[in-house]
Formats: sequence, structure tokens, C-alpha cells
Amino acid sequence: MASLYKTPLLRLKRIGPKKAAEFSKLNIHHIGDLLRFYPRTYEDWSHPLSVAEAPLNETCCIRATVTSASSPARIRGNMIIYKLIASDDTDDLHLTFFNQSYLYDRLKQGGTFLFYGVIRRTAAGYEMASPQVLSPDHAGIRPIYQQTSALSSRSIEDAVRQALQLLPPTLNDPIPDEIRQQYQLCGLAEALHGIHFPETPAAAEKARKRFVFEELLILQLGIGLRGSRKTPSTEYRITTDHTGEFLQLLPFSPTHAQLRVIQECIQDMRSSPTPMSRLIQGDVGSGKTAVAAAVCYTAVRNGLQCAFMVPTEILAEQHFQTLSRLFQDTGVRLALLTGSVKAAEKRRIYDCLCTGVIDLVIGTHALLSEPVTFSRLGLVITDEQHRFGVAQRAALASKGHSPHLIVMSATPIPRTLALMIFGDLDLSVLDELPPGRQTIGTYLVDESKRERIYAFLEKHISMGRQCYIVCPLVEQGESDLVSAEEYAKILQKTVLSHCRIAVLHGKMKPAEKEEIMTSFAAGEIDILIATTVIEVGINVPNATIMLIENSDRFGLSQLHQLRGRVGRGSEKSYCIMVSPSTNPATMERMQVMCRTNDGFLIADEDLRLRGPGDFFGTRQHGLPELKTAKLSDMVSLEIVRTAAQQILSEDPTLSEKKYAPLRFEVSRLFASTEIFS
Ligand code: ADP
Ligand code: MG
Repeated sequence: MASLYKTPLLRLKRIGPKKAAEFSKLNIHHIGDLLRFYPRTYEDWSHPLSVAEAPLNETCCIRATVTSASSPARIRGNMIIYKLIASDDTDDLHLTFFNQSYLYDRLKQGGTFLFYGVIRRTAAGYEMASPQVLSPDHAGIRPIYQQTSALSSRSIEDAVRQALQLLPPTLNDPIPDEIRQQYQLCGLAEALHGIHFPETPAAAEKARKRFVFEELLILQLGIGLRGSRKTPSTEYRITTDHTGEFLQLLPFSPTHAQLRVIQECIQDMRSSPTPMSRLIQGDVGSGKTAVAAAVCYTAVRNGLQCAFMVPTEILAEQHFQTLSRLFQDTGVRLALLTGSVKAAEKRRIYDCLCTGVIDLVIGTHALLSEPVTFSRLGLVITDEQHRFGVAQRAALASKGHSPHLIVMSATPIPRTLALMIFGDLDLSVLDELPPGRQTIGTYLVDESKRERIYAFLEKHISMGRQCYIVCPLVEQGESDLVSAEEYAKILQKTVLSHCRIAVLHGKMKPAEKEEIMTSFAAGEIDILIATTVIEVGINVPNATIMLIENSDRFGLSQLHQLRGRVGRGSEKSYCIMVSPSTNPATMERMQVMCRTNDGFLIADEDLRLRGPGDFFGTRQHGLPELKTAKLSDMVSLEIVRTAAQQILSEDPTLSEKKYAPLRFEVSRLFASTEIFS
């Protein structure tokens, strides 16, 4: 299909430069992109129901005849309301339209139409507001595309219909024939028609299944090809293990899991000439920082420089303080490098890193900046890995000669998905929490409990404890939600006026944020009202209450991260989630939080409910975006892996002619990820 990929959209009717520009916003530049722009969902107009048999409060399609129309009425300003009644043998359906006069003109009495919308039952009878309308000859399954403000699903559909007609009689199918037969997958042409304009729901599913397979196959092959590239050997071998010495510095005894993971890392750095490449997964509070510190200590003692990169300045500052304290009498020389470090100090750090005077630098993205050079960078650690992309990790590593790599993640993802995302990393799991941790009492409550919540906060504050209150980020036009600032003002003026309250959000200057975090950590603030900037890593053991407003706005893994900010000391801690939602699915999701403190269970549940696409919140994990595959498809990952291995064992570089279309798709999927650059 290579030639079709290059055909510009302008070839199609009803697409001029302006519309083509709108398509570009959806990353559709050529006809090939358009054909691969699959519907988000479908509307099933193929089996219209009668009024009486239609399910209530669900979207459905009704076939009925217009029997009466009342005249238009003006309500509120420019709004005109049209009311009609359409009937069939079973009952009447009251239809309401707003402002759509053209529709009203079309819906002549006696005419039969298909109405698509949600039916409700009211005192007046069955009712449908603002349904879509089609003539009965258009019954069928209709594709619904992701639309933009200037590009409707219908106009995308029109373009796709034309594009399908341009398909040549035979297509180069990226999935080789024998694989297709072996796994019973339909051909590319059938799949393209089936995914855009299926005749039946089963046809759509058959097409989707093929594209999921194709997508996962291409992904596996891409990862496989990447893995087969020879990793250069490292010059930074470790000869002596200084963990024993390090443990003397720790104010606590390490857990078994911590000891094991430290050993796994040191073993990696000692044995093979290939540099270590290891993902450390550990639930919130499992003590990843101490593990990182231990590995850094041995690395430094072996003459290496270490860089520790974290996603936020607050976290960098905090790690810097923790590690400075830990290493204070050891001679390990540390530095903190973030965007807000003063220029003169930055220059000094650049010099010291370049000459090797600093052993361990902790910082943010600032570490990636061009003037940062090292004399012997041997170990690179990134914390909260999912916040960084593969490219960023590689950028830091390229400042040394194949340094050892550790990435740490608090998001415990299932093994299959981890392998898929981090394909080439070894995995260590910190599956044990430090002793004495109490489970965090977690409660889901509604507005009616607000007074009691504040009384609860007050009681704990009077006992010397501190609280976080998290408000979701307010987007423009969301007038029903209160921003963190407004929230603080309200509390300060009313119920909690005698408490020391401060606000922390992402838009503040780094110095301001740091000042607030420092005084919160010092106990000078009772209540910290924040957006999710506090989600990552922060450690203030005296904070024992986490109150999350509009908790339905957050994903489960994010809620778990937020909750992980409390329960870090010996005091009993609480997480209170407030939500106005009554949606059963939302409630079910949040109840998971009340049932368990286990991050692994929560992540599984999150994946089940949301799919891997959304799982990381942002799409920064360095993998290409998957268009069709969902979590439920991950079970087929193993099958696809076998198919990929089968292909690669036959042709490790995909250079045979029969794999040319597949190779083309692999490079296309990975084009935007820099994995192959
Ligand atoms: P995370 O894995 O979430 O990054 P941290 O490294 O921030 O966890 O550790 C959480 C808290 O637990 C810190 O206060 C840390 O000092 C403490 N901690 C870590 N390991 C142990 C241990 N073995 N025993 C007791 N406390 C520990
Ligand atoms: Mg951490």
C-alpha cells in the first residue's frame, strides 16, 4: 500500500487545503493514514426497535412515523424548541429538538424515520431529546470517528468511503500469508472494509482482531529488532561491593527485598561486560530511594560518577537532602542541579562534573542540558520512570560511555506489559514494605459528610499532625470545580480559619514551591492544598491525612500514588476520597481503593478498567501509540510474541522481500518514538 500512503488527501472530493489542514491535526496526511484511522466506536442503526421494546436510558435506534408537530416555541434568548410526536404500533415517542429548524422542516407528518438517541420515561410518556435522524434506507452500522471542532465524524466517514474505493484490487498485506492462515486472520482489504463499514458487529470484531494482531506483531518485531542491536560493552565494571559499609549508614535495617534488589544490581555491574539495564518496580513506600543510594554508594566507591534524575524539582530537592544526610561523613560529594539553581552555581556544578569533583548529581531534566558533561559517568538512575521517555533516558546515558542504567517505577505493572514497554530491561521487584507500616484507612464519602471531614482534620491537626488536600486541576470553563486557590481561601475564611494553610500548584515558580514544601516538611504548615504536583515521591512522615476532592477525576494508580504520600511514619494515616459521583462504574472503581492497599492489585484493576493506553496518564513511556489494542487484548500478546519470534528466527533483520510490507509498517510505527534513531 506504499503508493497509496503517499497519495495526498486532496485527491478526494470535498477535501480542499483547508479541510486537509484539519485532517493533519489528527495526524492524517495521506490516504493511507486515513484508512488506518479507525472508528472510535459504531452506532448500530441496523436493527431499529419499536418504541415499547426500546431499553430505557440507553442509546438505541427507533423506527417511527411522525404523527404530530407542535409549533416552535422560543425559550431563553435565541433558543427555539421544536416538539414532535412519532409513533409506531406500540406507543408514542415525544421528540424534542433545539434550534435545528432544518430538521424540523424535514420531519413532515406521515414520514417514517430512524431516530437515534436515549429514551427516557417521564410523566408524559416516552421521550427522546435531540436524537439523530436518518431515513430508513440508511439503516446499517455507522462508524463514529474521533472528531475535531472543525471536522465532524460524518465528513471523515465521507473521506474514508472514497478512500476505500481507491484501493487497488490486490494489496500488499504486512502480515505474511502463512502467519495469517496459521492464526486465522482476515486479509487487509477485508479488514479495512470491515473496520470502517462492517455489515454486522461480528464483521467489525473480526477486522479489529486482525488489526490488533498486526499492531502487536509490529510492536513485538520493533522491540525485537531493537533488542538484537548489539549493546556496546561498558568500561565501568565494579570490582568491590561496598553494601556492608553502606548499611552502617542507614538509620534502619533494610528489608529482605531491598537487600536482594541491591545485590541484583551490583551483580549486574560486576559480572558481564554489558552494562546493567534494570527496572526496579516497587510499590509506593517500598523504599526505592535507599536501594538507589546503596547502588550509588558502591558505584562511587568504585570510582564512578552517578546521575540521579527525577521528574520534579521538589523531588530532586528532597532526594538531595536525604542523600546528603546519609552520606555526610563518607566523603561522597553531591550536587543538586535543577532549572532554578542560580547561573553561577550551575557553572560551578558543570565544571565539577566535567572534572570529576562531584560523585553524585541529583537533578531534573536540567541534567539533560547541553553544558552538562561528565568525566566518568558510570551509573544513571531515573526515578518514577514512567514520567520520562525512552529518548530522555537515552539522552542522559549518552553523556557517558555505556553507563549502567536503573529505572525505578512505583507503578507496578503486570509483567507482560512491562516487557512490552521496557522490552530490553531486566526486572527487579521490591515486593515487601518496611516493617511497621499500618494500612491507610481509606474512605469514599459524598458531600453530606463535609462537616465531619473538616472536624476530623481539625482533630488531627490539634494533635500535631498535618494534612494534604488535593484538588483536581481545573480546566478552563469548568465552573463547577473549585481551584486549589479558591478552595484555600474558602477554608481559611470559614471552617479551618485557625489552621496554617498553604497552596501548591504546578504553575508556581520553582523557588516558591520549594519554600512551601520545605516549610511543610518542617511542620510550619498544617494543611497543604495542592494539585497533583505532590503525587510523585514526596516524603513527609508527619502528614497523616490525604483528602482527595473530586476523586472520580483521577485514575486508580494516580489515587494510589496520592494516598502513598501518607502512612510514611508510625502514626495511623487516612485517605478520604470525596466524590459527588453516583455513577455505578465510577463508584466501583473507587471502591477498589477502599478494599486494598496493594499497588499491584490496584494497577491490575486500573488496567482492566482503563486499558494500557491511558495507564500512564501521559504517553511518555517511549512506545508508539497503539490504536486498536486494549488491555483485554494483552492476553493475545503471548501468541503474537510467538509469531514474532517465528518470523525473526527465519529473518532476523526482516530483509527478505516477503517481509518488506511488514518492515515498512515497523519503521512507520516506530518513526515517532526515536527508538530507531
Ligand atoms: P518509595 O519506594 O516510594 O520511593 P521511599 O524510598 O521514599 O519509598 O521510602 C519511604 C519511606 O520509608 C522513607 O521515609 C524511608 O526512609 C523509609 N524506609 C525505606 N526503607 C526502609 C526500611 N527498610 N525500614 C524502615 N523504613 C524504611
Ligand atoms: Mg520514591
